[in-house]
Amino acid sequence: MKILLTGGTGYIGSHAAVRLIELGYEVEILDNLNNSKIEVLDKIEKITGVRPTFHQVDLMDYKATQRVFSEGGFDLVIHFAGLKAVGESVEKPLLYYENNIGGTINLLKCMREFGVKKIIFSSSATVYGDTGETEFTEEMPTGVKIVNPYGKTKFMIEEILRDVATADGDLEVVILRYFNPIGAHESGLLGEDPNGIPNNLMPIVMRVSTGEIEELKIYGNDYDTVDGTGVRDYIHVMDLVDGHIAAIKKMQPGVAIYNLGTGRGTSVLEMVAAFEKVSGQKLPYKIVERREGDLGEVIANPDKAERELDWEAKRTVEDAMRDVLGYLKGN
Ligand code: NAD
Ligand code: UDP
Repeated sequence: MKILLTGGTGYIGSHAAVRLIELGYEVEILDNLNNSKIEVLDKIEKITGVRPTFHQVDLMDYKATQRVFSEGGFDLVIHFAGLKAVGESVEKPLLYYENNIGGTINLLKCMREFGVKKIIFSSSATVYGDTGETEFTEEMPTGVKIVNPYGKTKFMIEEILRDVATADGDLEVVILRYFNPIGAHESGLLGEDPNGIPNNLMPIVMRVSTGEIEELKIYGNDYDTVDGTGVRDYIHVMDLVDGHIAAIKKMQPGVAIYNLGTGRGTSVLEMVAAFEKVSGQKLPYKIVERREGDLGEVIANPDKAERELDWEAKRTVEDAMRDVLGYLKGN
């Protein structure tokens, strides 16, 4: 089986590339390197012994994307490519709509033109919006009070995928709603290495630990949670990747949607404590105002993936911390 990974040099895509190659899948990567580095290919090669074919292509460039497909012969596309910085999406909404939605439309047009019938899409828990719930199942309404353009692009792409699958009954679509991916590859070679200033908790914690950022700002301690700080469902990136592998094996015509999370919540203060335990290092932090648009608690109900994909997250937050520290040491 030949698989095209869009966004395959990015954080999640690169970890997926490793696992897929190890399992014997043939992998090609398309990425414009907007938020990743070409050196990731060396790391993938070092871990697996295989250097995947790489296309430095922007999905917004239709002709270039078409060329990749004309020579590809792909059986499946895993569509990781997208811009994902929530704050930036508020400042530059058109860029986000153009890149994420426009890029996906180009991709789907190329798939249609070259007869590629399977796609797995990286969606997000953010599509559930602010329903007042804290634990989410796939049947719950989506698109409710989504506060930022990034989240809206994920919701809109899900809708587009549904419409395209309705129009083409042969299409096999899997939408995976990721909760909070963290962690790194156990080799210490691959990890999360965003260009620019990170906005997610784990990369910020790591930069505080190296002294690049002075202290962690904890956004609010007055939520209705275990200790007042925000609670999230952190899932190890390799568990997340295994969820994709499980989904590949069960693909069928139509649209299937799965939450990929652990079903367990961890507060920001618990994350700090886990980091301190694993690293033996104190993490300086300060409680500040809530971050606009944040929800108190967001946890996956992962039962559907467990039931239908025979998959469940196995690694803990501490495993993830250990792997990220290994990655920091190796780089
Ligand atoms: P990432 O930024 O590390 O990887 C995305 C990759 O896509 C980058 O390498 C970037 O260069 C590439 N890209 C962006 N726009 C492109 C375009 N127009 N053409 C070609 N390449 C393009 O992000 P990630 O954390 O690996 O996330 C992968 C996917 O999962 C994204 O769609 C993201 O929205 C989604 N997701 C991520 C998280 C998370 O917390 N990491 C949570 C939920 C969903
Ligand atoms: N968070 C924080 N300080 C930071 C970054 C994040 O306190 O510098 C908190 C945030 O309020 C949330 C949790 O950490 O409760 C996870 O935030 P992240 O941005 O990683 O994920 P998301 O909010 O998208 O779930």
